[in-house]
Amino acid sequence: MKIIYVYPDLLSTYGDRGNALVLAWALRRVGVEAEVVESPSDRPVPRDGDAYVLGGGEDGPQALAAERLRADGYLAEVAASSRPILAICAAFQILGTSFYADGIERRGLGLLPVTTAPGANRLVGEVVSAPIIPLGRGYLTGFENHSGVTTLDRGVEPLGRVISGGGNGVGGVDGAVVGSIVASYLHGPMLARNPGMVDLMIAKLGAEGSVSSALQEQLYQNRITVAGR
Ligand code: GLN
Repeated sequence: MKIIYVYPDLLSTYGDRGNALVLAWALRRVGVEAEVVESPSDRPVPRDGDAYVLGGGEDGPQALAAERLRADGYLAEVAASSRPILAICAAFQILGTSFYADGIERRGLGLLPVTTAPGANRLVGEVVSAPIIPLGRGYLTGFENHSGVTTLDRGVEPLGRVISGGGNGVGGVDGAVVGSIVASYLHGPMLARNPGMVDLMIAKLGAEGSVSSALQEQLYQNRITVAGR
């Protein structure tokens, strides 16, 4: 399988490349050949990916990434064909209908029925949420660093209910799950810190298996403790 890591030159400020690396590693662990293919922003997004992973970024690169992804247009086809997309923070905002960067409202890709507005305060720190879909562990953990506040349209399912931290910054929730798209504010990288999320991605890719291990369990427990749970 090919895991496409989209726009590492623009959307890779917060270590989210780790999500692509962990996903490929996890697939290999459950017996599926997998590689990460980096997709730089000056080239078309590869058409032959099995999953697409996008990360966070600062406002300037984020605005440019949105422009280039809208011009490219292919992520809409990825979503229409139900291939998984994992979008963190800036990428979550970009997949929505609109967001702000450098104080200016920008058009998103419109793949998620969500809008992002500037928040009163930057949300920075550890986050713990309770996943809406059962993921085999009690909580999701990660860290956030964003000023945008993301409102889900009515009926859009969040990824988790926030127990501590900001998450989307409104409604007491983090992220969104729409079709094959999973979006969240959780950096970490999220898949390194949440084995249940890795298992969810494995299942979305139609593969079978679980990557839970003693080491991951230890890391997970450590993060839960750091977050004061
Ligand atoms: N620039 C966006 C914001 O501050 C996203 C930041 C991020 O990706 N961590 O809201």
